[in-house]
Amino acid sequence: MDEMTRLMALSAKVGADPLLVQAAGGNTSLKQDGTMWIKASGTWLQHAHERNIFVPVALDPLLAALERDDPACESCTDFVRTDLNSLGLRPSIETTVHASFAHRIVLHVHCVETISWAVRADAEAMLAPRLAPFHWAFIPYRRPGLPLATEIRKRLKGDTNVLVLGNHGLVVAAETVAAAEALLHEVVRALVRPARAMPLADLPMLEELARDGRYELAADPSIHALAVDPVSLAQARKGTLYPDHIVFLGAGIAVAQAGEDPRSAAERIGLSGRPEPKLIAIPGKGVLLAKGVTPAALAMARCLADVTARLSENDPAQVLSREDELALVNWDAEKYRQSLPAS
Ligand SMILES: [Zn+2]
Repeated sequence: MDEMTRLMALSAKVGADPLLVQAAGGNTSLKQDGTMWIKASGTWLQHAHERNIFVPVALDPLLAALERDDPACESCTDFVRTDLNSLGLRPSIETTVHASFAHRIVLHVHCVETISWAVRADAEAMLAPRLAPFHWAFIPYRRPGLPLATEIRKRLKGDTNVLVLGNHGLVVAAETVAAAEALLHEVVRALVRPARAMPLADLPMLEELARDGRYELAADPSIHALAVDPVSLAQARKGTLYPDHIVFLGAGIAVAQAGEDPRSAAERIGLSGRPEPKLIAIPGKGVLLAKGVTPAALAMARCLADVTARLSENDPAQVLSREDELALVNWDAEKYRQSLPAS
C-alpha cells in the first residue's frame, strides 16, 4: 500500500469520528515531489474512500507567496496543479497551515478534547503540563487563511510537530501516515477531558413545541445536552467558540425565553436584525433545529454539545469577537465552502 492510499484510509477513519472531525471540517495532506496533495475545500474527510477529495498544489510557488504575504495564499487556487486536477477541485481554506510544515504528512482536526482546552483564555498555560512531552506550540486565534498561516510561521520551530490552534483545533505532522496517526492519538489521549453525563431531554415537551413544523427535534439525541445541562448552556450562550460554528450554524446560539415557543423566539430574534436561528435551545428541555437543516449544521450542533459537556462552570471560555465573526462570514473562500451542496 502506498502512502497516499494509507492517507486516504486514515482520512476516512478520522473523518468518521465526530470527536475528531465534524462535516467538512478538518483536513489532511501529503507532500510528494514538490506537490502537496491537500483535502479539497468543502469535501468531507469521511468520504475519502468513495470519491477523490484531494487536490494537488505546487509547493514551491505557494511557499514563495507565503514568504511575501501574497493575498493569493487566502484561497491558494493560483497554486493548483491544473494538469493533475481533472475534477476542478479547490484546495482547503487551511492549505497554508499544511504548507507551513516541512513534514510530509499533516493532519488537522477539530478535535473536541483539544477545543475544550483551546477555547479557554488560559489555554496555553493549561496545556503546557499536559503537552510537555511533545514538541508543541500554541497559536492564538487567527482567521484561517493568511492571518493563521502568518501566526503559525512566526511560532513554528524546526522540530515543532504539534500545534494547538486557539478557539479552533489541533494539527500534527510527521514523515509517515502511521507516525502521524500515532502522534494524533497520543496528543488526544493527553488532552482527554471527561464529559458530564447527559441529562435527559424533555422529549414530549419538545415534540409539542415542534408541532407547527418550522423546527424539529435534533435527530441526534446527544445534542439536547446543550440545553438541558445548565453548565453547557451557560458556556454555549457566551457566543461563537470556534470558526465552523458560525459558518454552519450562525453566530452563537438562540435561547428561548421562559414560555416562548420556537416561532416566537425566532420572531423576537428576527426583530433584533439577526437571521432566523438554525438552532434554538429550550433551557431544561432540549434543542430544536430548523426543519431541513444541513448535515453540516447537525454535525456542528453535536460538536457544540460535545465541547460544552467538557467545560466546567468556572472554565474561562472566550468567544470570537464580532470582528472575528465578520471576518469569517465575509471571507470569499469561506463563502465558496458554504455554497457547495450538502453532503
Ligand atoms: Zn480547522
